[in-house]
Amino acid sequence: MNKTADVIIIGAGIIGAATGYYLSKKRLKVYVFEKAFPCYGSTGRCIGGIRAQYAHPLSIQVMIESIKIFSTLRDELNRDVEWYQGGYLFLAHTEEKKRTYLEAIKLQKQFGLPVEFISPEECSRIVPGLNCEDLLGGSYSPYDGQANPFAVTYGYLEGIKKHRGKIFTYTEIKKINLTGEKVSSVVTDKNEEYFAPVIVNAAGPWAKKIGELVGLSLPIEPERHESLVTEACERLFDPMIVDYRPDGCYFVQNYKTGHFIGCYTPIPNDPGDHLDASSTFLTEMPRRMVRLLPKLRHLKVLRQWAGSYEMTPDGNPIVGATPIDGFYVSAGMCGHGFMFGPALGKLLADLITEGKSSISLEEFSYNRDFSRKELMK
Ligand SMILES: Cc1cc2nc3c(=O)[nH]c(=O)nc-3n(C[C@H](O)[C@H](O)[C@H](O)COP(=O)(O)OP(=O)(O)OC[C@H]3O[C@@H](n4cnc5c(N)ncnc54)[C@H](O)[C@@H]3O)c2cc1C
Repeated sequence: MNKTADVIIIGAGIIGAATGYYLSKKRLKVYVFEKAFPCYGSTGRCIGGIRAQYAHPLSIQVMIESIKIFSTLRDELNRDVEWYQGGYLFLAHTEEKKRTYLEAIKLQKQFGLPVEFISPEECSRIVPGLNCEDLLGGSYSPYDGQANPFAVTYGYLEGIKKHRGKIFTYTEIKKINLTGEKVSSVVTDKNEEYFAPVIVNAAGPWAKKIGELVGLSLPIEPERHESLVTEACERLFDPMIVDYRPDGCYFVQNYKTGHFIGCYTPIPNDPGDHLDASSTFLTEMPRRMVRLLPKLRHLKVLRQWAGSYEMTPDGNPIVGATPIDGFYVSAGMCGHGFMFGPALGKLLADLITEGKSSISLEEFSYNRDFSRKELMK
């Protein structure tokens, strides 16, 4: 078998799959290496939310591009990726949160997003039965939505295969060889060597370890986040509800099946890539959901699981070239990688092949100033 590709990608989550797909479409031969199975990492554990409501201009721009792609992926991949534009509603229970959302809305409107700060009454019109106690209103955009992470990722991987690429599952990259300052090959756990002049680190929560293989110290740390899915019921409302109070949560009803899927951010953070599910989450998450929406109290939890957020110091991804010639990073998605995946895949493919992308990713570079934090997370 031919062991030489144009690009080697490490990781078959959404980032590796999307980047590989757009490179393949440019007629590059792409090999994707995955230590387990596609979607083994964070992608197969996420809740499928997609939004352009951010406080960082680059995130807003990238997400406008991603949403354009999601809305045409069914035709592009010839597969139903379950894209549904049901919106996102960020609830504000404090004056400080309200101010943050109002500031962000000003910026989002500059990019043409149909986002508004709405009253508690309007919130409960969009989400009937919502508990409006202490609620000051919400940042609402009907432009946001949901899709199926498995369908999207497998769709992209199938596309890579159609363009003469290969996906190597259960094959871990153990070593990256350099010739001088330039990448030249990878070595797998089966002690096989594969060659390419370009290598993309799309290893999600394990991206820091991949960086270390070339002597690069990437500020990406995994944190455990848990999630659950409930029984289905009739359609109750459309948007993802986000409650960022310390004891809040976020959840959405699947538009097709009627199941609710959701999670919360643990306080304190839970560092590390361990993936145990906890009884604390199993009791706490339903309590938080029912507090927001009392009519959910009769639903049972069907499944729970844990996954990783891949955190950077400022809450934004690290994407682009590095000082190692041919070594690119697209990781540190900070819990937003599914939604960022399509646009970042396309933009990184342009950067690799043309040296520039239609939206500059400079502010996501690995050596940026990390002091400007994303506020809508
Ligand atoms: C509970 C939860 C809810 C979430 N909800 C959302 C959401 O609503 N919307 C959203 O946009 N994002 C969400 N996320 C975040 C999102 O899942 C991630 O940001 C995204 O999936 C990251 O994708 P990735 O491709 O970078 O990483 P991954 O999906 O983790 O893929 C990386 C892959 O690299 C492989 N790998 C690692 N090391 C090696 C090696 N040495 N050799 C070969 N392969 C290797 C891994 O096995 C893995 O499959 C959520 C995450 C969690 C945990």
